[in-house]
Amino acid sequence: MKLRDFPPDLTPHLLPEPTGEMLYRCLECGREYGISELLYTCPACRGLFLLVDKQEARLKERPGAFWRRLFDYRRLLNVPALRGVFCYYELIAPVIPLSDIVYLGEGHTPEVAACPALAEAVGRPFTFKNDGQNPSASFKDRGMAAALSYLNFLVRSENLGRVLAICASTGDTSAAAALYAAYLGDKVASAVLLPHGKVTPQQLAQPLGAGARVLEIPGVFDDCMKVVEALADSYQVALLNSKNSWRIRGQESYAFEIAQTHDYELAGLSVVVPVGNAGNITAIMQGFLRLHDLGIIDTLPRVVGVQSAHADPVFRYFREPRGRRVFTPVMVRPSVAQAAMIGNPVSMPRVIRLAEEYTRRAGEDSVVVVQVSEQEIMDSMLLANRHGHIACTQGGESLAGFRAAIRAGLLDQDEQGVLDATAHHLKFIGFQQMYFDNTFPPEFEVTPKPEFQNHPRLLTPATDDPQEKTRDLARQIAHLLGLTPKGAARP
Ligand SMILES: *Cc1c(COP(=O)(O)O)cnc(C)c1O
Ligand SMILES: [Zn+2]
Repeated sequence: MKLRDFPPDLTPHLLPEPTGEMLYRCLECGREYGISELLYTCPACRGLFLLVDKQEARLKERPGAFWRRLFDYRRLLNVPALRGVFCYYELIAPVIPLSDIVYLGEGHTPEVAACPALAEAVGRPFTFKNDGQNPSASFKDRGMAAALSYLNFLVRSENLGRVLAICASTGDTSAAAALYAAYLGDKVASAVLLPHGKVTPQQLAQPLGAGARVLEIPGVFDDCMKVVEALADSYQVALLNSKNSWRIRGQESYAFEIAQTHDYELAGLSVVVPVGNAGNITAIMQGFLRLHDLGIIDTLPRVVGVQSAHADPVFRYFREPRGRRVFTPVMVRPSVAQAAMIGNPVSMPRVIRLAEEYTRRAGEDSVVVVQVSEQEIMDSMLLANRHGHIACTQGGESLAGFRAAIRAGLLDQDEQGVLDATAHHLKFIGFQQMYFDNTFPPEFEVTPKPEFQNHPRLLTPATDDPQEKTRDLARQIAHLLGLTPKGAARP
């Protein structure tokens, strides 16, 4: 829609100017730092940062209804910088000029309702929010759009020359980082550090294709993370891990979109999300809390975190009664939810704080973390796929967690779910193949159910004669599928 066709009272607000005053605030000691330097942890105490806008109170001068209307109309605007997560510019990073924003088609992913048969099988209605429909096929693009837009802004405004962006990854972060860095061309080079053999071939192909330097080390993600941190301590690099608080900002858009899709009425909703490094659940809680602060939503939805029994430190923490909770990292075991296979989540301090604030406002059970088995994850993914959904193993984990929460009586009678399908099915297709072929190594503890297994069937023509061959194959297929000849009486 053309600018002149919008309601005149909104026109001055549609194309926002940088009016915020953002800074890094240390979660531990409260010290604040300017954003013109590449900082990830507090130089004084090594605590994690949250990014805050010192001027956020100015947004409260307008009622929630103003913001709802502005964001809804902004969806109609054909300005690339505002087509993605920066549709919610004032809430993401209101310090970056529109001209520095990088947009690769991320965000505004569809919420697809479970078909009636699936809702019936699960026991109540729900939707999958398909974050696998982002450009690099996972939700990580939301955060990268914010982090790389900020980096783009910084490189230009501080004359940094060429920067090296680096991250450790369970696969999807590196795919997203490499893609956005490649788009910025000469300004940003990227290097990614992966645990050898612990990312899928599809995920490995992505940063290779985007031209990143791909480095592999033995071990798991947690080992890569330590190396990247050692690098960031001693060298000039831009760190694109979840410690990078710009990513959390971008990922908050997931919560904003759910609010918008549900016309800002979130009573009776459960937002279900798989938890690995805990950046996503951090962003989702924070996103809803900020909408609540600004009066954009009245009711906070329930947040249900899900972890596999093979990588469940966050579940173990919340299982303990309040007051007796102590966070202890765990050794992970092989998991089909490989992108969430993390024993020492970086964002845990953020989660602890935010869950406290969330439950203070919305009640004790408004944040819950459930645990599911590897078997349940695989079976739930395949059940979803069998009903027309593109859930990956982590999306299957969301569904398994939703079912576990229903079973445990954690949800209200009419409560519905919005399940995060965090990546595209095809990224983790090797696990489907292992299920179909029954080749899971024993440590995964997955036994295929025959009703979900599927194999291609190769047909051999009985003859080489070109015309006869076609007829023969058609006959074979008709026989296999039990087709009724035309003109025959209906059975
Ligand atoms: C990164 C990732 C997760 C885990 O998210 P965290 O923010 O690390 O908790 C889950 N699913 C997929 C597909 C991912 O790429
Ligand atoms: Zn500090």
